[in-house]
Amino acid sequence: MSEPLETDAIIGVLGGGQLGRMLSVAASRLGLRTHIFDPATTPPAASVADMLTTAPYEDQVALKAFAKSVSVITYEFENIPVTAFDCLGQYAPIRPGREALRISQDRLIEKTFLNELGLKTASYAGVETLKDLELALIKIGKPSILKTRRLGYDGKGQVPISAKSNHKEILEKFAGQKAILEGFVQFSREISVIGARSPSGNIACFDPGENVHRNGILHTATVPARISKSQRTDAVLIIAKIMNALEYIGVMCVELFVTPSGLIVNEIAPRVHNSGHWTQNGCVVDQFEQHIRAIVGWPMGDGSRHNNVITENLIGSDIDQVGVLALDKNVALHIYGKRDVQPGRKMGHFNRVSPKR
Ligand code: AMP
Repeated sequence: MSEPLETDAIIGVLGGGQLGRMLSVAASRLGLRTHIFDPATTPPAASVADMLTTAPYEDQVALKAFAKSVSVITYEFENIPVTAFDCLGQYAPIRPGREALRISQDRLIEKTFLNELGLKTASYAGVETLKDLELALIKIGKPSILKTRRLGYDGKGQVPISAKSNHKEILEKFAGQKAILEGFVQFSREISVIGARSPSGNIACFDPGENVHRNGILHTATVPARISKSQRTDAVLIIAKIMNALEYIGVMCVELFVTPSGLIVNEIAPRVHNSGHWTQNGCVVDQFEQHIRAIVGWPMGDGSRHNNVITENLIGSDIDQVGVLALDKNVALHIYGKRDVQPGRKMGHFNRVSPKR
């Protein structure tokens, strides 16, 4: 696919959660259409997308039919089996490409990739056996964090190891899953930078935001982050280096720890990200539109920020605050249309804007 797609083209989106929903809304604003592929029958994106395929990611027949119905394929989460990509890639381009997905699916591969690029990460070691863990603890020390290599998100699949911990018992809980031990990074704050890269290699970045987590889930993202101008530049250089190395197309998020010895990369997400929702009310072109523009080959927005913004997630029963929030003239609501309220479930978010300082 070398020519930009025309309006009316159909974009295939793997995953129909809130990110797929907001990508579909952005695509429709540009006159493009979306076809969602999701194992669930009524995912949040279904009510705003043009088409829905309900099938597991292992269903080769459904994947082929889906891929043949679209001009380009993207994804809203990184835990899609790479085997699905083998099938899909025969019929339509996948953006971002599978290398970004392969790297971000496995924390050990991701850390190795980042270090080979010359970027700083926490110290780390792969762990499969008790012997590996003991050697890793000698190398890395305590405190440290044991994480599953794959399928971890929102703080799930990770356990801190302190001086008092019984590391043997902790490893048993991993039940044979491959793991990674990471040194605990003493950071002053966590930030993330969202960037986009076009097929021709143009890069545009949004302002880094400062993130606060609660119970392992993002609670707030605030722009501007309290960082120096040179830290801001470093964040942009880091994400640009990663995107160029992958010949990336689309939006990416890089989560960073701010430390006295510089920025340390925590992880990369090859997709639009919760910490970038502030762009919906802080920029002319938000992360969702930026992603769509990049993958269909349209010119990208520049990422300039015109407001200060705080994004706050509405988790579980937080959704009950909507009536009050709707009265606030500085608040923009983004509700995901999920019927079942469950503890820990992301139901929506709001952006509180204030003049740029
Ligand atoms: P992750 O799922 O790897 O993004 O981790 C979730 C959260 O755990 C991060 O946002 C940090 O607050 C914390 N965390 C993860 N890894 C480390 C680390 N190596 N050192 C310190 N804190 C960490």
